[in-house]
Amino acid sequence: MGRLKGKIAYITGGAKGLGADMARCFSDEGAQVIISDVLIAEGEALAEENANIAFIKHDVTDEESWKHAMSAIEDRFGGLDILVNNAGIAQAPATIEELTLDDWHRVISVDLDSVFLGCKHGIGLMKKSKNGSIINISSILGIVGSGMGQAGYHAAKGGVRTLSKAVALECAALEYNIRCNSLHPGFVGTDIVRGGVKAAVEAGLMPGENEALEQITMLHPIGRMGVPRDIASAALFLASDESSWMTGAELVIDGGYTAQ
Ligand code: NAD
Repeated sequence: MGRLKGKIAYITGGAKGLGADMARCFSDEGAQVIISDVLIAEGEALAEENANIAFIKHDVTDEESWKHAMSAIEDRFGGLDILVNNAGIAQAPATIEELTLDDWHRVISVDLDSVFLGCKHGIGLMKKSKNGSIINISSILGIVGSGMGQAGYHAAKGGVRTLSKAVALECAALEYNIRCNSLHPGFVGTDIVRGGVKAAVEAGLMPGENEALEQITMLHPIGRMGVPRDIASAALFLASDESSWMTGAELVIDGGYTAQ
């Protein structure tokens, strides 16, 4: 308890899934948490359930919204110590030959442009407190490929991985005392996975839903898919001062998926 005492944390895409669990975990450890999302009812419900979590509406693909979000956080909370660029979507499943340019742009926009915008505008506020941690949620699919009809998602998440290293080194050179690391979860049974599997089955890229989930589970040598707390615990470590000598690194939390 208290590992984030006194810190202000902003988590995008925090209305549900991994982001919502990170918000609860960070709040339990003493942080003031601000979540944002395009899902207003779900975001407001989480903020109502927990006095240390506030919600703001924010589409992470929109640069003006980033400026509004940062000034709202500065006005209300006085600064920012932790930024989790978590909001993300799966690609509409398609082989590379069938993937439309619009669908490619959509996944790159939500999963990669958003992280660029988050780093760009987050650093402006975080450097004032001279002690910041940026956690960019990539994926194991940002490290390895797959035949799951997710080429655009792979490209976006791979971009997040090396963007994070560049941001880390720039912040170090500029002596901002802002660290930046990427976090790479294996498969966790949230809506992005359930929805992605359903869409891939409908597109004929995977067998039945249960069979597909069974196959995905078997790709994790530990023998189960992840649960949100597996990822929140890793994010908590990166957010806390316990990882103060860690920057430009990639933290893989995947039940052994990428060790094979
Ligand atoms: P999720 O679908 O449950 O949650 C994603 C959240 O992002 C939703 O609340 C959604 O409304 C929000 N979002 C989507 N587009 C947005 C936008 N334009 N602006 C603001 N918010 C937006 O999925 P999740 O599993 O919680 O995913 C969280 C992150 O973790 C994503 O970046 C995802 O790619 C990554 N990830 C998930 C897994 C997994 O297995 N669940 C594995 C690796 C990486």
